[in-house]
Amino acid sequence: MRAFEFYAARNASDAVALLAQHGPKVKVLAGGTDLLADLKFAAASHHPQVVVDISRADDLRGIQMTDQGLRIGALVTHTEIMDSPIIREQLPALVDAAHTIGAVQTRNLGTLGGNLVTAVPSMDSGPTLVALDAIVTVAGPEGKRQMPIVQFWVGPRKTILKTSEILVDIIIPKENVGKPTHFLKFGLRKGQALALVNVAASFHVDGNTFKAPRIGLGAVAPTVIHATSAESFLEGKPITPENMAEAGKLAVNDAKPINDFRASATYRRDLIAVLTRRALEGAYELHRKREAK
Ligand SMILES: Cc1cc2nc3c(=O)[nH]c(=O)nc-3n(C[C@H](O)[C@H](O)[C@H](O)COP(=O)(O)OP(=O)(O)OC[C@H]3O[C@@H](n4cnc5c(N)ncnc54)[C@H](O)[C@@H]3O)c2cc1C
Repeated sequence: MRAFEFYAARNASDAVALLAQHGPKVKVLAGGTDLLADLKFAAASHHPQVVVDISRADDLRGIQMTDQGLRIGALVTHTEIMDSPIIREQLPALVDAAHTIGAVQTRNLGTLGGNLVTAVPSMDSGPTLVALDAIVTVAGPEGKRQMPIVQFWVGPRKTILKTSEILVDIIIPKENVGKPTHFLKFGLRKGQALALVNVAASFHVDGNTFKAPRIGLGAVAPTVIHATSAESFLEGKPITPENMAEAGKLAVNDAKPINDFRASATYRRDLIAVLTRRALEGAYELHRKREAK
């Protein structure tokens, strides 16, 4: 590991000021589960000269309801998501997704914000937040801006963040807090494995029809994506096993899976169809369980 200057930010605006002051060769440190490996192994040309630690910035923490919806601070760890009473009650799919990330130590240190900023296509937090139409807030020298989460990623390991910007929080819009949602991850092993495919599905139940169906797909395109043709197909259709299976088939065409040493594109396509159908079934099961209470 090469030497670097280290600054600890007191809050979000302090972090932005430090980033702006130190220019392009600066990196943000949150939980460090990814960044420390990068610092150790990055080529000299990519090694930061300055690290700004945001882990003590309390305004980037916390899970609370606001007028806009459920706000999750960028520094909230995967363990905190798993332990949050409101998330467990309203959005258990986020708990399931957090639970699949690494092992206990990684979940205790790793943050939701860090997971999203890595922009790795197989990130496990992505699909559920896409299926919930989450909004992200970014802060920079010119102030704050918000955007739908799918617009935050622009390619593998690339986000819209400029060097002096940070991710502040993630907001689940009010109308989607409690929306029946289900997350599934398929890896080569149960624990400590990257997803070959991960999927989340959500929809409101309107009579017996799908309302606002959303499907987030991970590890099958350069970024986490919406399965848009599957979503359009389901809108207003009766909730039946046949329609769920058809949506699974359509989702395959929304994705661009690759061949790599973990799995072939053909195998990933099969997984997309099956997991999408099962995620839709899971969301409906959650709705029915709640109705039965
Ligand atoms: C052993 C192991 C297993 C893992 N397993 C999984 C897994 O199963 N699934 C999965 O999805 N991930 C996995 N990960 C990846 C990682 O743990 C997560 O992505 C984690 O959530 C990253 O968060 P962090 O706070 O540690 O980020 P850091 O390492 O601190 O930062 C990661 C990147 O994001 C930037 N960054 C962080 N926060 C912000 C912010 N608020 N604003 C701007 N930039 C920011 C940093 O500069 C850096 O580039 C694993 C990692 C390890 C080491």
